[in-house]
Amino acid sequence: MAFELPALPYSYAALEPHYDAETLEIHHSKHHNTYVTKLNAAAEAAGVADKSLEDILTSLDSIAEDKRTPVRNHAGGVWNHTFFWHSLSPSGGGEPDGGIADAIHGKWGSFEAFKEEFSNKAANHFGSGWAWLVVNSADELEITDTHDQLCPLSLGQKPLLTIDVWEHAYYLKYRNVRPDWITAFWNLVNWEEVNKRFSS
Ligand code: MN
Repeated sequence: MAFELPALPYSYAALEPHYDAETLEIHHSKHHNTYVTKLNAAAEAAGVADKSLEDILTSLDSIAEDKRTPVRNHAGGVWNHTFFWHSLSPSGGGEPDGGIADAIHGKWGSFEAFKEEFSNKAANHFGSGWAWLVVNSADELEITDTHDQLCPLSLGQKPLLTIDVWEHAYYLKYRNVRPDWITAFWNLVNWEEVNKRFSS
């Protein structure tokens, strides 16, 4: 079965004023959708169209080298965006509680210190890509970034939270000021979902 564009878990206007409806609609219905279309072609060409997205992303090395790059880029593009939409919520923001709060305090000492490091990672990422909170292969929380559409699943990591810092994610509203987009992002973080990911 072909890969399909997943519906957003909220309406295009639901994240206003922090994330404007026009950017979100283009981001989902155009950018995300294009990754889906191109993934279907790339997966077919590579003979992995019957696999799940997660299986593809965790076994990229099994794909012939000359077919691998478009699969990696577009499978990552599909998965990363779906994960990102579910990282946000109209009722998000604030500080986490539960297991992820304890783990963040254990690693960074305070939520503020975590937030500062994550924001700096996102702001200083050069070019297109993503900043992430992951559980790394040593089973520790880590703030990372990936270029283009590289997915942490392909690095053996368990992603918990992400922000898209491609210009298409923020340029209509925040123009060249990526730090303003990052500030707005903190008002939308779906900590309930992050907690579920952390404890799963
Ligand atoms: Mn994007």
